Amino acid sequence: MKAIVFHQHGDLDQVDYIDVPKPGIGPEDVLLEVKAAAFNRLDLWVLAGWPGLNLKLPHVMGSDGAGIVAEVGANVTGFAVGDHVAVNPTVSCGQCAYCLSGRDHMCDQFAILGEHLDGFAAEFTAVPARNLLKMPDSVEFEDAAAASLVFVTAWHSLIAQGQLQAGESVLIVGAGGGVNTAAIQIAKLAGAGPIYVVGSSDEKLALARELGADFTINRHEENWGKAIYKATNRQGVDMVVDNVGAASYVASLRSLKKGGRLLTVGNTSGPKFEIDNRLLFAKHLRIIGSTMGPIRDYEKVMEFVFNGRLRPIIDTFAPLSEGAALLRRLEAGDVTGKLAVRP
Ligand code: ZN
Repeated sequence: MKAIVFHQHGDLDQVDYIDVPKPGIGPEDVLLEVKAAAFNRLDLWVLAGWPGLNLKLPHVMGSDGAGIVAEVGANVTGFAVGDHVAVNPTVSCGQCAYCLSGRDHMCDQFAILGEHLDGFAAEFTAVPARNLLKMPDSVEFEDAAAASLVFVTAWHSLIAQGQLQAGESVLIVGAGGGVNTAAIQIAKLAGAGPIYVVGSSDEKLALARELGADFTINRHEENWGKAIYKATNRQGVDMVVDNVGAASYVASLRSLKKGGRLLTVGNTSGPKFEIDNRLLFAKHLRIIGSTMGPIRDYEKVMEFVFNGRLRPIIDTFAPLSEGAALLRRLEAGDVTGKLAVRP
């Protein structure tokens, strides 16, 4: 079967479109005929690699996928050949203390499909049945795939961790990425507002307004920290969503009102930076980190995707063979929404 893989860690020159063996399945797994897969920044981090990450190579990329059940393992119940399914990318054991308390995203054996295990940029992939969610036949596979990782991540961050309430003001730093386009919609759905979005292009900001942003700021045209200060009558906002990191963190903290919270699930501009601790304690601020989300959040947010109240933004849906070219665009930041492939 065809797949987008890398043979060794490194840059995008390592990414290849090749034939690999069709995977076998264990008793708790299903074989998924992938109808759509999608990429995330995570794919670029995994490609680059880090100490302690030991993958079976070649590694099949892509943490997002949806498709049709093609084969079911001996112990699998509740799913049958032909079912249309979306897949929660977070793998968990179902038995450790974290899993038993509903915090399966903190599982002792936590893994992400496409990160620690083979992903979805292939014609078929083996997936634990525990990760499947049946989807209505009326939902497009590319929508289910494109939504999975970013929507569960944003939902868990804003709603479960951040406890976002109706009427609270929110600043989202970044407009084009998948998590940010999800976060804008989730904030709107929660009744939050005003919703401020900082972005790098008028095109991305126009999309942000379409998705629910009340005020947008082009960071190339004005100092967004000052703009927020002014727009909030020097009060700041209740919540900042910052997945940019090094380039924005201090300004994000300064944009919070007393008692505010900063949510983070990543750092596209770099993970290390200095902060003045006085910013934190003097204003009673909280920094709340998370990654991915538990099964119950995945099911909850996907229900809103399936009924159309949340909408994954897909920049491009191209044949699987174009995977490497899409990853180059992702690296260049030349995307608004998600990049998806069709095996
Ligand atoms: Zn577990």
